[in-house]
Amino acid sequence: MEQLVKELNEKVRGFSAEQVLEFFIKDYPGKLALGSSLGAEDQVLTDMIARIDKSTKIFTLDTGRVFPETYAAMAETNKKYGINIDVYFPNAQSVEELVNEKGINLFYESIENRKACCHVRKIEPLQRAMIDVDVWVTGLRKEQSITRILTEVVEADTLSGKIKINPLLDWTEQELWHYIKKFEVPYNKLHDRGFPSIGCQPCTRAVEPGEDIRAGRWWWETPEQKECGLHSRRNGK
Ligand code: SF4
Repeated sequence: MEQLVKELNEKVRGFSAEQVLEFFIKDYPGKLALGSSLGAEDQVLTDMIARIDKSTKIFTLDTGRVFPETYAAMAETNKKYGINIDVYFPNAQSVEELVNEKGINLFYESIENRKACCHVRKIEPLQRAMIDVDVWVTGLRKEQSITRILTEVVEADTLSGKIKINPLLDWTEQELWHYIKKFEVPYNKLHDRGFPSIGCQPCTRAVEPGEDIRAGRWWWETPEQKECGLHSRRNGK
C-alpha cells in the first residue's frame, strides 16, 4: 500500500483538484466515493464530481442529530445536480441501547460517551457505506485542524485500509468561497451564521471571528481530543 500511495502521489503531483478527481474517477470506476458532510469543502467536491461523472457515489451519514439546514442543503444539492446523495443511518437497535443506557445527551458527560455516540452514529454506518469502496474522497484541508497533519493528496487510511484522497489539501478558506460563489454551489446556510465546520447539532456551535476553524466542534473538549474517528491521524495514534 505504501508503495502504491507513493506512486499515486507522483502521478497527481501538480494536478488541480478537478484533475485529481478525474484521474481517480477514471482509474477506479465504481470504486470511488465522496463521504460528504454537506460542508463547504464537500459541496465544492460534489460540484466538481457532478461535472465529471454524475454516477459517482456520494454519500452522507445521517446521525439523527444533524441540523435542519443540513437537510436543506442536501435537498438543494440533489435538485441542482440531478443526483441522489446516498444516506446512511445508524443501526436503530444500537442507538436505542446507547441512549437508553447512557442518556439522550450522553456526549457531554465524558469523552468515552462522546466516542461511543460517534461510533454508533458515524463509524459503523461509515463502515457500511465504504464496503465496496477503494478510494475515499475527503474535503480535508491543511489549515483545518491541529490533529490533522496532512502533507500529501493521496494517503493510506490506517483505519479502513483504503486509499484516501484529499484534492483540496492546499486550498485556503478564501479559494473555497471564491469557487462556491463563482459556480453558485449550494451550501449549508449555517456557514453564513458563524459555523465554519458543521457536524451534529448538539456538538457544533458558531465560532467568533479569528477563532480556530474547528473551535466550534466538541467545544467542551481539548483540541487534541477533537476527532470523531472518521479520519485517522497519519501516525495512526
Ligand atoms: S458528533 Fe455528537 S451527536 Fe454526533 S455522533 Fe458524535 S457525539 Fe453523537
